[in-house]
Amino acid sequence: MNYHHVLERIHSEIVSLSPVGKVADYIPELAKIDPNKFGFSLSPVGGGGPVEVGDATERFSIQSIAKVLALALALAGGADEVWERVGVEPSGNPFNSLVQLEYEAGIPRNPLINPGAIVISDILISRLPSPKRDLLAFVRKISGCGTVTFNEAVATSEACCGYRNIAVANLMKSFGNIRNSVADVLDFYVHMCSLEMSCRELAHTFLYFADPIRYNRMGSDFLTDAQVKRINAVMLMCGFYDEAGEFAYGVGLPGKSGVGGGIVAVCPNEFSVAVWSPRLNRKGNSYLGTEALSRLTTLTGLSIF
Ligand code: GLN
Repeated sequence: MNYHHVLERIHSEIVSLSPVGKVADYIPELAKIDPNKFGFSLSPVGGGGPVEVGDATERFSIQSIAKVLALALALAGGADEVWERVGVEPSGNPFNSLVQLEYEAGIPRNPLINPGAIVISDILISRLPSPKRDLLAFVRKISGCGTVTFNEAVATSEACCGYRNIAVANLMKSFGNIRNSVADVLDFYVHMCSLEMSCRELAHTFLYFADPIRYNRMGSDFLTDAQVKRINAVMLMCGFYDEAGEFAYGVGLPGKSGVGGGIVAVCPNEFSVAVWSPRLNRKGNSYLGTEALSRLTTLTGLSIF
């Protein structure tokens, strides 16, 4: 498969499309991003990568993509508590919705919506001696990139205006599903979301979920095959909030989006891919990113279906 030709072709088609969608501005710091950025990087299983076009090496705010990494870290430390406190069902609701939480007694539908990731944050804070530092160490380890870090300005910007997340965390606290102080949990959560990585770094990191040999080599301190399988299942069913069905239909890969405009997706045993285009559709997913991935799986014939 000549991935380079495929990515070049998609890039040239994508840049000729008229710009649709809006950069996230509910986190003021994210509104400053150039909406015309476009990065695309693919890491084939077994080597030969990265294959990339556009702004693939420029770092951006990975936002909710980090929820997958936090989930991986939480599962590595013991899965039972995680699945007692968070479900694995698609929510069918926006990522920051409160309604389901009220009638489902503070148990979030899944770990990839905000309430779920806030519970995962709470679990990690209880377990890790130095939560933010330990999260960073973990991300640096699986990305193989020692300079990945938080963007403090983005974290502060979200902390100032994250009224919905404050409400979500308090609601869950009232049901007993948050054990630490809401302030500590949200501080961890906004830092996790503020992690910055490039498409190249993300594609390389998520190779972990696409390549069984690679994750087996990481050793027993990390995830089992079964846990990797389950994380991929959760990404497929829940990675795009109330657009998960649309993404499965159009792209056909497990993946995760973030309001920074990034999307990662994995084709087990074939490749891991990351795309970045900051204009979002109404569901908060990158408009051109989704389009690029849909073209990728159609042109290569590689999806999980
Ligand atoms: N930090 C963002 C929030 O909590 C993450 C949302 C996202 O990327 N979908 O709203």
